[in-house]
Amino acid sequence: MSFDISSLLQKHKAAADWVGIKWISEKTTYRSVRNENPELNQTVHDRGLRIEVLIDGHFGYAGTSDISTEGINHAVQKAVAQTRQWSKHKIFSFTKEQRPVTKGHYRSQIQKPLDSLGLKELTDILRDCSLKMKLSDQIVNRTARAMIVETQINSVTSDGGEQLQDFSMVSLDLQAIARSGTENQIRSAGFQNQIGAEVFLRHRLLPVSESVAQQALELLKAENCPSEKTKLLLSPDQMMLQIHESIGHPLELDRILGDERNYAGWSFVQMEDFGKLRYGSPLMNVTFDPTRFSELASYCFDDSGARATKEHLIKDGILVRALGSAESQARSGVPGVANFRSCSWNRPPIDRMANINLEAGTTSIKDMIEGLDRGILMHTNRSWSIDDYRNKFQFGCEYAQLIEEGQVKKIFKNPNYRGKTLDFWNNLIAVGQEIETYGSPYCGKGEPSQVIRVGHSSPYCLFKDIEVFGGLS
Ligand SMILES: [Zn+2]
Repeated sequence: MSFDISSLLQKHKAAADWVGIKWISEKTTYRSVRNENPELNQTVHDRGLRIEVLIDGHFGYAGTSDISTEGINHAVQKAVAQTRQWSKHKIFSFTKEQRPVTKGHYRSQIQKPLDSLGLKELTDILRDCSLKMKLSDQIVNRTARAMIVETQINSVTSDGGEQLQDFSMVSLDLQAIARSGTENQIRSAGFQNQIGAEVFLRHRLLPVSESVAQQALELLKAENCPSEKTKLLLSPDQMMLQIHESIGHPLELDRILGDERNYAGWSFVQMEDFGKLRYGSPLMNVTFDPTRFSELASYCFDDSGARATKEHLIKDGILVRALGSAESQARSGVPGVANFRSCSWNRPPIDRMANINLEAGTTSIKDMIEGLDRGILMHTNRSWSIDDYRNKFQFGCEYAQLIEEGQVKKIFKNPNYRGKTLDFWNNLIAVGQEIETYGSPYCGKGEPSQVIRVGHSSPYCLFKDIEVFGGLS
């Protein structure tokens, strides 16, 4: 369903010093199969308008799903009245500079439209994935689930800004749980991309399903991960979590400014650290990149209208830029990015991650393994804990392998590692050549709460002097 917001803008654009209107329409479809039985078949539609106004140097919002004339008039009046009142207590005086005038159109690059795959066909593929995991009676839980999201965001502003963005996204999860006595072991694989129905390919998904189940069974027979200080090789699907928690969240400028300390937390990063702080070893290059093809948080414009560009956050190990929108940049004087994003029509935008990627290095995974006298390779996040300054952390993984004398020797179950953010990243000693892309639809932040999509690409990475240990954490 589309909505003529240009006419709406003409009617209301004189209501404030500046007016922005967004029409946000999202359709989310959930399909899930467990132990070969379809469990979930649900589609949720969420549509509404967000009215944004600038009055006396203060930005304010009102959202409505009531798109009758009365409903919209009420939302505009509410945005104006509230913002006029709040402007008397503002902590910073903004201008239209924080809402750049841009025009353009973004669309996820897909090969097959998401609605080209019928319910039966999709359910059959997910059921086949579940069946492929049925390697033994010990695989007690076999789940294949897909979340398919189609989002349109249409924006206009009173000074001529006009953007239309059209997203097609799929999160696909395969999970096997193996049981022996009272012990359960989980192995999973996930795909999170802006993509079309072409992601649902049996020849791609069935081997992954089988491998997930096979590795869950292997874990039942494996020894616990030992406790030692060693070299740790992390797969890209664990690196995504490491990047998210120990780079993404601490670099959010609104956290550093203190806006989020009551809920999401603060950051160990200080304003004066930008341009100076050695965050990691010289091998560490981290970018904010919504322009990268097919990641979950790729886009052309953020919610302020700012055009997204690829920017280094950390260059050769030095912290150079924050995850801060135009508003946070104005407040702090620190360079930022186009990351002003809200999760829906009924939430205001705040500083978020988008795609935060660790750039490829020069070492092949083969050379990393062959060069190790002893080390542990860990795959796929299972648990995470990090303090609210994003400093001390402890992460658990699903599956680990011992590497000795340049060869993979055996499997460990219940692997974990711990560290402190800056020490950990300064111990980065090799970065792989091959990038893999993951993401999450569930990054939480803000009051009231906002859950948003993020993407993370990374190669395999090798760290020295890391404390690893076994057990459920
Ligand atoms: Zn998060």
